[in-house]
Amino acid sequence: MSDVLEASLPFDLLAPQPADALLGLITLYRADSRLDKIDLGVGVFRDDDGQTPIMRAVKAAEAALFEVQTTKSYLGAEGDALYTELLAEIVFGDQASSERMSGVQTPGGTGALRLGAELLARANPDAKVWLGSPTWPNHAPIFAEAGLKTRNHRFYDHASAGVDFTGMLDDLRDARAGDVILLHGCCHNPTGASFSPDQWAALSNLCETRGLIPFIDLAYQGLGDGLAEDALATRTIFAQLPSAILAYSCDKNFGLYRERVGALWVQSGNRAIADRVRMNMLSLARSLWSMPPDHGAAVVRTILEDAALRADWVSELGSMRERLNGLRRLVAAAHPRLSPIGVQRGMFAMLPIAPAVVAALREDHGIYMAGNGRINIAGLRAETVPIFTQALMPHID
Ligand code: PMP
Repeated sequence: MSDVLEASLPFDLLAPQPADALLGLITLYRADSRLDKIDLGVGVFRDDDGQTPIMRAVKAAEAALFEVQTTKSYLGAEGDALYTELLAEIVFGDQASSERMSGVQTPGGTGALRLGAELLARANPDAKVWLGSPTWPNHAPIFAEAGLKTRNHRFYDHASAGVDFTGMLDDLRDARAGDVILLHGCCHNPTGASFSPDQWAALSNLCETRGLIPFIDLAYQGLGDGLAEDALATRTIFAQLPSAILAYSCDKNFGLYRERVGALWVQSGNRAIADRVRMNMLSLARSLWSMPPDHGAAVVRTILEDAALRADWVSELGSMRERLNGLRRLVAAAHPRLSPIGVQRGMFAMLPIAPAVVAALREDHGIYMAGNGRINIAGLRAETVPIFTQALMPHID
């Protein structure tokens, strides 16, 4: 081998990277031989048997696609346009068909967030992105890798297990016009805490008066209070503000995780800007993934096109939501300190416990959760709730 070749790979300069903590937890859980172990770690929906099932409408749509699909030829950078159009109606209701809106299919919610971040970086590299503490751990790296600066504002108040709205507004005093504020549209990950309708209205006003751009992350529509209910905040913001961004994931509410199904919508001040935004979304998508994977979006489109499949999806999603909210009520009833879990929404909650207690619950009781005390509610069953809450009881005051 020549010296030139040996010297040409600088990868030894790469910094080591931490392993994904939740994946490490899966390995530990699998190796645990206790039969009564409980997995509250990984963030996927589970049914009463601990499975993450393929939804009935998804199975039926896949069977239909198998019959009717005649080609695997390219679709283009925007993906499946009918998918985006039909999904927009679920998200935006009668505000869906605005000419100020540009929407494209993306690989999952992560792809939507990244495409939105790249678009912002192209339009205004000086914009800061404000993230609540805590938030989904991938938010900060997604914006940082796109070259944007991030800042944190207070969000979750551990004492009340609710939103620290005063602290949040206080921190946002440092936000400047053109800055971006990332908001979870519903079912906050990791806390389950939600803004009240009044707080959403106040945030919408704040964005309007201060020139901040709301970037909504809607990854759990239908898993909180209902499809329309979970989109209400998004609709309020999009109705009031000229410019707003929405990153959407179908991976939870259609159970399509590994198929990577999402969409990005950007609302602009007028049609001409919306056209420019769309061109830029497509040119960025071309360099990121050229075009999104088709299968999952084709499944969603097939479901939304067919009245019977759509109704079945809405109904099964309703059962999933009821399962989550039923478990929330059971946990909440066990101890006053756990009662906020009953009013929180979505798949997650943060337990009021220190990392040492998280480790003790794992070692002494085989109860697995993220190091920060985040639990996946769907990992519980009605029968395991008492086991879980009794193990927890000595550690909460
Ligand atoms: N946003 C939030 C808040 C999430 O919790 C997740 C997934 N855990 C995503 C976005 C990304 O979703 P996807 O798997 O579709 O990329």
